[in-house]
Amino acid sequence: MMIQCNRLDRGFELYQNEYEEKALEVLRRGWYVLGQEVESFEKEFAAYLGVGDCIGVGNGLEALQIAFHLLGIGEGHEVIMQGNTYIASALGVALNGAVPVFVEPDDYHNIDTGKIEEKITDKTRAILAVHLYGQPAAMDEIMQVAQKYRLKVVEDCAQAHGAEYRGRKVGTFGDISCFSFYPTKNLGAFGDGGALVTDDAELAELARTYRNYGSREKYHHSMVGMNSRLDEIQAGMLRVKLTHIDGLNEERIQLANRYNKGIHNKKIILPAVLPEVKSVWHQYVVRVANRAEVQQKLMDKGIRTMVHYPIPPHLSDAFQYLGYQKGDLPKTEQFAGEVLSLPFYNGLTEEEQNYVIEALNNI
Ligand SMILES: *Cc1c(COP(=O)(O)O)cnc(C)c1O
Repeated sequence: MMIQCNRLDRGFELYQNEYEEKALEVLRRGWYVLGQEVESFEKEFAAYLGVGDCIGVGNGLEALQIAFHLLGIGEGHEVIMQGNTYIASALGVALNGAVPVFVEPDDYHNIDTGKIEEKITDKTRAILAVHLYGQPAAMDEIMQVAQKYRLKVVEDCAQAHGAEYRGRKVGTFGDISCFSFYPTKNLGAFGDGGALVTDDAELAELARTYRNYGSREKYHHSMVGMNSRLDEIQAGMLRVKLTHIDGLNEERIQLANRYNKGIHNKKIILPAVLPEVKSVWHQYVVRVANRAEVQQKLMDKGIRTMVHYPIPPHLSDAFQYLGYQKGDLPKTEQFAGEVLSLPFYNGLTEEEQNYVIEALNNI
C-alpha cells in the first residue's frame, strides 16, 4: 500500500459538487477580487469564531505582517514567541523590523508560559501565541503575563481554525488574530488566503484600508497601504468549507483518537493534549529519537511522513543576524530533531490508518 502524508484531493472529493458549483457561480459573475463572496465570508467566519470583525487578506504571513504593523510594532521592539514554530510566525514580526524573541516550548509543543517573563525587556511589545499543530496555547497564563506587563497579544491561528481553549475559540483572545487558508490548513482554500480577526472596530477599519492600497474609497488613499486581498473564488470555496468545518475537525479528532489508541511502541512518544482544550489536530505529531531510521522503515512500507519543522527559526540562515547559536534553545532543538508527522488528512481511511499503526508497532 502507498500512503501519502497528506491528500488534498480526498478533502476536495468530500464536497466536490458544492465546490464546483460555487466556483462556476463566481466565475460567471464576473467579479473576482474583494466582492460579495469575500464580504459574506468575512461575516460568516467572524460569526463562527464569535469575534467582531474579520478582514480577508492574501495569506497568513501577510495577516501577521499587517497585524504587527497596525499595532505599531517595528524597529526597536521585541515580540515573544515559541522557538518551535513555523518560520512564518517570526517573519511576520521581522518584516516590520521588530525582533522575534524565542522561548522554549512546553510538553504540548506550545509556548512554555513559565518562561515568558524572564524574556521581557523594556523593548517587549507583544506576545505571539501560536496554536501549534491545532492545539490551543495556554491562553489564561499568556493573557495574565500580557496584562501584567501591558503587552499586546497576537494569536497565530494558522493551524487551529475552530480549536477551543476552555470552550472559547482561539482567535478571540488576542488584540488581533491571524489565520491562514493555505490549502493544507484545517480551513484550507484552493490557493492562498488569510484573514485578520479582531474585536477592535478601529483596528478592523485600519486593516480593511491597509490591505487595499490604503484605500476605502476608490482613488482616495488615507495611508500608505499594500495589496493583500482575498479573491472571490477562494472566499467562495472557504464559505463552502466553513459550513463543514466542525465535521471536518471532528473527523480529525476521531483519526487522532484512533492513532492514540492503536500505536503501542515504547520508542514513540504520542502527542499530549491539555485537558482544558479542544485540539483540531492540524497535524498528528509524534516524537521519536531515531527519526531518520523510523522514517526510512515506514518508507520501505510505502508510508510517507513529514517533519514539522526540521530547522527551528532561530537556527535558520534567515535569522542568523539575531545571533542565536546551536544549544541556545535545547528543548526546541530536541523537538526539531524528533518530531514526526504521520499521514493525516480528511478522508484517510480506516484501512490506511491501520496499515500505518501496524507498521509503527512493528518497528
Ligand atoms: C501556514 C502558517 C503560517 C503562514 O500562512 P501562509 O498562508 O502560508 O502565509 C503562519 N504561521 C503558521 C503557524 C502556519 O502554520
